[in-house]
Amino acid sequence: MTREFLYSGSPARIVFHDGAKNSVADWIAKSGARRALVLSTPHQKADAEALARQIGGAACGVFSGAAMHTPVEVTLAAMRVVEETRADCVVSYGGGSTTGLGKAIAYRTDLPQIVVPTTYAGSEATPILGQTEGGRKTTVKAAKILPEIVIYDPLLTHGLPVAMSVTSGLNAMAHAVEGLYAQDRNPISTLMAIEGLRAFARSLPKIVENPASGEARSDALYGAWLCGTVLGTVGMALHHKVCHTLGGSFDTPHAETHAIMLPHTAGFNAVAASQALAPVAEIFGGSVAGGLWDFAKAIGAPLSLRDFGLTEADLDKAAEIAVENPYWNPQPIDRKSIRQLLQNAWEGNRPI
Ligand code: NAD
Repeated sequence: MTREFLYSGSPARIVFHDGAKNSVADWIAKSGARRALVLSTPHQKADAEALARQIGGAACGVFSGAAMHTPVEVTLAAMRVVEETRADCVVSYGGGSTTGLGKAIAYRTDLPQIVVPTTYAGSEATPILGQTEGGRKTTVKAAKILPEIVIYDPLLTHGLPVAMSVTSGLNAMAHAVEGLYAQDRNPISTLMAIEGLRAFARSLPKIVENPASGEARSDALYGAWLCGTVLGTVGMALHHKVCHTLGGSFDTPHAETHAIMLPHTAGFNAVAASQALAPVAEIFGGSVAGGLWDFAKAIGAPLSLRDFGLTEADLDKAAEIAVENPYWNPQPIDRKSIRQLLQNAWEGNRPI
């Protein structure tokens, strides 16, 4: 078979080392900005304020109202602070929710973004913004949404609780697994996906054992960058659509939903995409689905949707929504097989 692909590298600048947070002020200056608005969730407000103090004169304020799924009303409140403080860049300190707010501001203003990630969600490496208004989640993709500078400081993840580390890591791994069979994959996205999966296969069990392991934390954040970059480069399929449906319509928690669904969606696609998914079977041992499920179980991940308040009637509705708008997937999708897949994930069964 001859090769055929289209490749464009991400223009983002990536800074990665222990203690990299201390260079945020330098990067603000290098980007030509003088008035940085630091963003965070309410939970990370104290850390964001400490970062603003560290940035010193180049920080113009802190907005700590970021929330899951980027509600438009929160963005509008943050936009008022951007105007009041005459901010000329944003510094997003936190996980995907905070990065989402920074992206929503950049989408409306084209202000440059510096992101300091503290989870493995990977949003910082994508030009994609998901936002919610009136209970509906919509997604936009635009060049100005991609953060210009990402400062990865593994020391900031040492305190990420083990349960969140596990689900956030599996969330990141899902980007890589779907990237392996993406229709528009290229040799670099595939290399990054495999390397990202290897990094998490090595690091997550070590983090469960010793959450303060510097080596494992560094490895996991490296995996997050790789998997996030894959998400930002190629198209996603069944797994992300199903998780989007569950989160958007039934408010299931983001990372946990990805963690539970991954073995089931990967297993569903494992026959049609057996060659593309061969590295997953190799890295996790055994079959694609069984290997991923055993890995998730061994590191204490949640395994069943029913633990998150979903009913079997919700599964009927979710299967309906998930097949409403057709999209490409290696294995053709129909309502009956998606309903069965959801049932297995709801019961927490080990897929084969
Ligand atoms: P999150 O950002 O909502 O973080 C969850 C909670 O953990 C928050 O309260 C946060 O403040 C806290 N937290 C973050 N880092 C911490 C740390 N190191 N220690 C202690 N607490 C910490 O969760 P997430 O899973 O990172 O992000 C989920 C959101 O990101 C969803 O809205 C999802 O849709 C979005 N997302 C978007 C993309 C994209 O490309 N657009 C990609 C992945 C995720």
